[in-house]
Amino acid sequence: MEEKMYFLMTNDVEHHSIQLNREDPNIPDQIYNVGLPRLLELLSKYDVLSTFYFTGMFAEQSPESIELVKEYGHEIGCHGYDHSPFRAFDSLKYKEQIIELQRAKDAIEAIGGRISSFRAPALRINNDTVRALIETGFKTDSSIASQRFDGPMSFGSKNKLGWLYAPRNPYNMSYDSPTKKGNSGVIEIPISAALIPYIGTTMRISPTINRVLQKFIFYEAAKTGKPVVFLFHPNECLDIHGKVVTTRRTSNNLEYIFADVIRHRLKLKNLGNSSLKLLEEVLKSAKEYGFEFVNSEEYRKVLQKEHIQR
Ligand SMILES: [Zn+2]
Repeated sequence: MEEKMYFLMTNDVEHHSIQLNREDPNIPDQIYNVGLPRLLELLSKYDVLSTFYFTGMFAEQSPESIELVKEYGHEIGCHGYDHSPFRAFDSLKYKEQIIELQRAKDAIEAIGGRISSFRAPALRINNDTVRALIETGFKTDSSIASQRFDGPMSFGSKNKLGWLYAPRNPYNMSYDSPTKKGNSGVIEIPISAALIPYIGTTMRISPTINRVLQKFIFYEAAKTGKPVVFLFHPNECLDIHGKVVTTRRTSNNLEYIFADVIRHRLKLKNLGNSSLKLLEEVLKSAKEYGFEFVNSEEYRKVLQKEHIQR
């Protein structure tokens, strides 16, 4: 029996400037005027319906961005309230997480209507997050990258070690741990990875590595029915302008040196139109391989229909 294969193209929309390596108040205008039109056009060309996870702050500053994405028929999801590393979900208590989630949800829903899909800023969540998601009415999460290993290259590295043991296929999350199966009713849709993450950044840093990784990810999907989840950002479609300044935090911490300086240099590769070209290659390959493009909410319904509560 032929099983359907699903590809979830997911986009995180936030204030982060890849060029400046920090939050930048000018980003929403650039994304609305340049990043989104470029990305939306490409998605239309391949009939891709996807999910755009917006931060609440972005929604407040650029409601027209949400309206534009909705016009193209994509799902709107939530990417937390802001993207501050100082208020990452894995550093917040249960009650604080509820406040952040509710604030973000209210801001986004005021423009785009009801939402049910969540992805945490910087993919940082902890053992309180599943309950906080239930409390605020979210039905899916996509913050776990099963078997992705960042070493010191990512913030919140310690919590992310749990990714190594997380199930690969989508699963009903445990109340007590986002990386374990349970019966909370919140479905985790893990971001594709095999030590290396299947995301825009990998694609831009090394198109060759990404092609090899993709081969495995596609093969696995065909073999096991696991959906492919690719993570991208409209700010990757922005060109670099002017001088690039590598911000360096005043810290001797090794984590900062790796995550900030080295990672930043790499992350500047293939931005703008080169990024779009590489993304087009990804979408084209997925289409040729026989994937059906769905958003997170549709995928949750597919699971429910199949009575798969993995
Ligand atoms: Zn983000």
